[in-house]
Amino acid sequence: MDYSLCIFCQAHETRTNVSEATEHGVITVRNAACSRKKLRDSKNIDIIDRLEKAFESATAVSLVWHKPCYAHFTDKSKIERLQKSQTECSAEGAGCSSVVSSGNRRSLRKRVQPVNWSLCIFCQAENKKARLISVMTKQMSDQIIQASHLDYEVGLRLAGVIDLIAAEAKYHLHCLSAFNRSTVKTQHQSTNTDLAMIWLCQELNYSADKGHVILLDDVWERYKELAEESSTMIQPSYESRRGTFKQKLQSQLGDIFSFFQPLNRCISERKTVLIPTKYQPAALLQMKADI
Ligand SMILES: [Zn+2]
Ligand SMILES: [Zn+2]
Repeated sequence: MDYSLCIFCQAHETRTNVSEATEHGVITVRNAACSRKKLRDSKNIDIIDRLEKAFESATAVSLVWHKPCYAHFTDKSKIERLQKSQTECSAEGAGCSSVVSSGNRRSLRKRVQPVNWSLCIFCQAENKKARLISVMTKQMSDQIIQASHLDYEVGLRLAGVIDLIAAEAKYHLHCLSAFNRSTVKTQHQSTNTDLAMIWLCQELNYSADKGHVILLDDVWERYKELAEESSTMIQPSYESRRGTFKQKLQSQLGDIFSFFQPLNRCISERKTVLIPTKYQPAALLQMKADI
């Protein structure tokens, strides 16, 4: 992010036409960002992210922007429309809520792409050479849909789908067996833990791959969301003692994350962060720069 460019569009070409943010302007933008975030404005996730970073940054930064970009972002009628479309959307039912998933804890949550039914429902890969097989029997369709609840990603993808034959779903044999293996494993695990925890760990595995550093507080918030989505009762011991939640998480994650508590702050502000073990040296350097 470059603070000398318009905070909204970050366009290099028009870097000269920017105006300095006024105090009033900053407050207006802050409110707009807050409303948009609450309304899960997925189109402006990047802008909202940037603004949050700017507002959170310890050293005061002065923002600049293009007047039209500012007007566009803070336009009340646009925000109202967002609100309206969301109410309509939630009225339509559960199938929709997963698609307009919030972008706030972005590093934790992948955005869900709509299913491309002409590709393998498991990998959605465009250029695999392997042969695609169509789902032909009701038994196969039911089996996949039922098991899909055990896989966070496929579960979201197939949310609301009741018949894979009608949807003309296709799969790679290899992907189907990988899916079966992993869902059977999850099924076993879920006798010892809850589904929300399993989904959470699947997301965290993905984040670890991407090298994201995550606050334990955010993980906890995300867990609560997933518990709601999966109708999981949150264990009272997780609520009362966050340490119990942390222990459980650590045992589930194994060594893909290191739990790390920065020491260079007063105790009340010390927040545990999760650092992907394989990115640890780079992450620590970055944290020194950020904190
Ligand atoms: Zn701009
Ligand atoms: Zn596949």
